Amino acid sequence: MSNDHHCDLPSTVADTCPAAPVDMSSNPPDASEALIQFLYQAPIGLVQMNCAGEIEMLNSMSAQLLMPLASEGNLDNLYTVLEGVAPQLRGLADAFGAASGTVCESLRVAPPVRRPSAAQQILSISVLKIAADRLICVLLDATEQVRREQRDIQMYLAAESRIDALTRLPNRAAIRERLQQAIDRAGADPRSRFAILYLDCDRFGRINDADGTMIGDKLLVQIADRLRGSLRMPAAANSIGSMPARMGSDEFVVLVEGDVDCIDAEAMARQLIEALYHAYTVDGRRLHSSVSIGLLHCAEFDGSADAALHAAHLAMLQAKVAGGAQLTVFEPAMQMRAARQGTLEVDLHHALAAGQLFLVYQPVVALQSGAVRPASAGVEALVRWRHPTLGIVPPLEFIGIAESSGLIASIGQFVLNAACRQFGEWRTELGPDAPRTMAVNLSRAQLLEGGFVAAVGQILSRNRMDAACLQLEVTESLAAQDELVQRRLHELKALGLTLALDDFGTGYSSLASLHLLPVDTVKVDRSFVSLAATSPHHRVLIDATVRVARSLGMATVAEGVEDEEQARIVRDLGCDKGQGYLYSRPLAPDDITLWLRAAAPATIEMA
Ligand code: C2E
Ligand code: CA
Ligand code: CA
Repeated sequence: MSNDHHCDLPSTVADTCPAAPVDMSSNPPDASEALIQFLYQAPIGLVQMNCAGEIEMLNSMSAQLLMPLASEGNLDNLYTVLEGVAPQLRGLADAFGAASGTVCESLRVAPPVRRPSAAQQILSISVLKIAADRLICVLLDATEQVRREQRDIQMYLAAESRIDALTRLPNRAAIRERLQQAIDRAGADPRSRFAILYLDCDRFGRINDADGTMIGDKLLVQIADRLRGSLRMPAAANSIGSMPARMGSDEFVVLVEGDVDCIDAEAMARQLIEALYHAYTVDGRRLHSSVSIGLLHCAEFDGSADAALHAAHLAMLQAKVAGGAQLTVFEPAMQMRAARQGTLEVDLHHALAAGQLFLVYQPVVALQSGAVRPASAGVEALVRWRHPTLGIVPPLEFIGIAESSGLIASIGQFVLNAACRQFGEWRTELGPDAPRTMAVNLSRAQLLEGGFVAAVGQILSRNRMDAACLQLEVTESLAAQDELVQRRLHELKALGLTLALDDFGTGYSSLASLHLLPVDTVKVDRSFVSLAATSPHHRVLIDATVRVARSLGMATVAEGVEDEEQARIVRDLGCDKGQGYLYSRPLAPDDITLWLRAAAPATIEMA
């Protein structure tokens, strides 16, 4: 090392170094000389200086590293040389109280780039105090190391961007890429096949709502683990490879590749449904979760990765509609149905304003009284949509869309208003022969709408309709729900109208809880009535329903009566009223007038 450092590199440093290179083979140096030689030649920069930063010795590498920073090649003082890139050094050293120790370690600085095309160099500076008035500075060219670190970070980030943070499964981006490769392979070689299983946890929102999202997250982790474990099972393996991924929220996908036919994939999906069905324990709580699976086999498909995922998703939605914990295999017709749904959803927004919605009415007749009186029926209002290109759309196709898109409140309001107005018109036109009651269907969203009860009151008074003539129909799944719904139903009843429990027998509640529901009438679902003639079991159920309802002071209506035999059975079982194609299909208002005047046979007393 040298203290004569007013020099050009490298020769001057070498010339002034007290331990110039020595030919070791001919003349071996003593130990300290060898050490000095080593330090001089070391590929790291070493500088010795005093507390003021004045350089006492430096080796070749440090001269090389510092020279580009030194103004006019002056390497007198390290702090001065490094002023432009590490101005804090002097302060750090001055503030360092101890007699020895590390003043700073691996401080990285970026010297200015002299030529625009030159690569940015990174220097690493460490300063050690070795005595009260002596410091050593270690300089390293950290350019390569930083580059490596940045590469590592980028690789890590790239890998992380393909991993789901919660479950550590591959994520949507990863599965999309892998799927695209599988599609490309299948396109090039027909023996290369694949299938997609699209999984969605049934009613997962309820767990999140009831137990909190923390528990929900932990459950998802367990589901993911179980999914991984199940796919490792030998039955699922053979010549078939599988990759699970999390799509987001409670949705997972398994890509199955290899010699896989639809039957293999179906078997695998059923195994997964079974494996994921068993209870989970999360924070000491036992939780139940099931999955619905949509399956797409590559034979049914020709398109992009996104389109394939979309198709499998559609099949999954069908599995959910079918009740959950089920498998549905994709069929191209599903795509057409979904496209129609999409069209309906867009168009429904204008339907009301465009006057495309209208009501038809279906008579409800009395079954028990044999008395012959002028026909007078109750009716149920049923909404229809006259779509400009698709024709008449039935409510089952658009009420669900109206509910999910927030349109149900205004549609419901329209229906109620139109039905009550029609009721008034019949009164004026037909007098005592007019229908006695008007039944209108309600959906949950309407009931939860603030101000709904008041709006019903206004509609009644605007149409000068006696509240007792209005019957609102709610499904049993709705009526059995939370306290707010219950409260609303009681408020509605307080207006003087009556409530009917629609589609009884298909939903949650049982006969045993019928007394908890604030309803006046029970409508026995069509599925029971249509089987009444052939299934003793269904006759028994209708019989029990009528008995329990009667004991609670409730009336009963048999829905969907289509033939005389069904009519006789439900009448014999004690149903008060009947509704169905036997008596009349739903009709336009004028046709109801005609039906009331002409069609009512003397044997049918109208309700
Ligand atoms: P729902 O309240 O159970 O209405 C009875 C449905 O059964 C009607 O279908 C009716 O046309 C049909 N039906 C009646 N008798 C028979 C029969 O003998 N055989 C057969 N096969 N079917 C019969 P629609 O009009 O398609 O309505 C379907 C459902 O849509 C209704 O079921 C109701 O839940 C809902 N809905 C209808 N209008 C409205 C409405 O204005 N608001 C709400 N929220 N829902 C409505
Ligand atoms: Ca109904
Ligand atoms: Ca019904």
